[in-house]
Amino acid sequence: MLDVKRIESLRHAAVAPVLHVIDGTSRPSRDGATSEVISPLDGRAMAVMAWGTAADAEDAIAAARRAFEDGRWSGLPPAERKRIMLRWAALIEAQALDLAVLGVRNNGTEIGMALKAEPLSAAATIRYYAEAVDKIFGEIAPTGDDVLGLVHRAPVGVVGAIVPWNFPLMIGAWKLGPALAAGNTVVLKPAETASLTLVRIAELALEAGMPAGVLNVVLGEGKVVGEAMSLSPEIDVLVFTGSGGVGRRLLENAAKSNLKRVYLELGGKSPNIVFADAPSLDEAVKVSAMGIFRNSGQVCVAGSRLLVERSIHDEFVARLVRATEAMKVGDPLDPATAAGAVNSLAQLEQNLRFVAEARAMGRAIATGGGRVLEATGGYYMAPTIVTGVNPADSLAQAEVFGPVLAVMPFDTEDEAVAIANGTDYGLAAAVWTTSLSRAHRMVRRLRAGIVHVNTYGGSDLTVPLGGVKQSGNGHDKSLHAFDKYLDLKSAWIRL
Ligand code: ADP
Repeated sequence: MLDVKRIESLRHAAVAPVLHVIDGTSRPSRDGATSEVISPLDGRAMAVMAWGTAADAEDAIAAARRAFEDGRWSGLPPAERKRIMLRWAALIEAQALDLAVLGVRNNGTEIGMALKAEPLSAAATIRYYAEAVDKIFGEIAPTGDDVLGLVHRAPVGVVGAIVPWNFPLMIGAWKLGPALAAGNTVVLKPAETASLTLVRIAELALEAGMPAGVLNVVLGEGKVVGEAMSLSPEIDVLVFTGSGGVGRRLLENAAKSNLKRVYLELGGKSPNIVFADAPSLDEAVKVSAMGIFRNSGQVCVAGSRLLVERSIHDEFVARLVRATEAMKVGDPLDPATAAGAVNSLAQLEQNLRFVAEARAMGRAIATGGGRVLEATGGYYMAPTIVTGVNPADSLAQAEVFGPVLAVMPFDTEDEAVAIANGTDYGLAAAVWTTSLSRAHRMVRRLRAGIVHVNTYGGSDLTVPLGGVKQSGNGHDKSLHAFDKYLDLKSAWIRL
């Protein structure tokens, strides 16, 4: 149960100036620059944060490099790193509701989901990797008797992490958990519009006993701070979740600088495919609505394309419209809200441009289509369903990252697969059917990092998340995530 009194007491609580965390201390930008933090709940300033320059990024990178090289973290026995990280997870958990409310005020996610998906999920992720790290062994290679071939798993060094605004703590922890547990040091750059909670958890890491310089957070613009990170010769591995354009830029900058390894999670245009033999249309309707509209569609795996077998298309859309119109849109700090605020005015305007274009092309807006609750000053949008979308439309090809669903009918399994695979993306997919054979066939045929069957969006830490095609490379979550943060290093010892 959410503690509503506590939420209300925090709704307008003053937030102290938000500073960088560099080399174990909270500090302003070198040039003193700051930026106002605008809350998407009411469009008003809720805090002031340091606004970094390349020099601040370089300070943080240098601190992380020193902390890595002197072994203050990588040199600790893994069980000791585990102990500190478990303490860190406990501190995050103890402040979960406060962190969740701060995060909601900053990025607009509904409080019920924010609590689970943000601080509680981050704590669970940190704990998962902390617990794993003293159970990872090297190997002895099966060589001849005159040689001992050893395979060590060594930390890669300094990790740069650039994260987005939709789930800053969850996605941040997917990177920080395995990177730090493995013994690396980190420079983290949060998104401009969702930085506050990541600064808090970096402060909690220090309180838990993580040495100075091991986890640094630099605030500011992507094209300044992130750019400096991607060009730095002192960052060994760069991990990123965000848009395809920035992902490309990071690869270019890696090539221009030190060939740092770059792992990208770049979103998707995920197909949610409902066959006429779906086990329960009611369940498919309910879950499909949540699969696109929770967090106002600002979810990388959002089921943003709905493909419905033609024989049930009209009935399914009618039920989906009813379910969608029953969703409460608005104040994300109200536990009854199903879809909160869009993260920023820029994002809201982008969502509306997609809808306007679809309208101009003659596509039907079955529900929603516009901004709502404008008098609050906040950035709210009605969950929007667009029907009759052509698979070639930009609404069926581009990631909107908002509460806009593109609906398309199909006649055959082959046609569904062709439409589903017909974008540059390949992150998630879903198929609703009672046919076991079709379900397995579809899992094989759909080009996506995760295929849900008779559900949408469920997973836990044990299952990797990563995309194919232009949805990216590498995986967050599960023990496979360690592959990005541990190098294989061989020793060849003549006996
Ligand atoms: P979105 O469109 O979801 O905001 P972005 O890719 O623009 O996605 O942002 C994701 C993260 O990438 C944010 O932390 C942002 O500051 C950062 N970023 C934006 N531009 C750059 C850049 N040129 N170099 C590095 N990071 C960047």
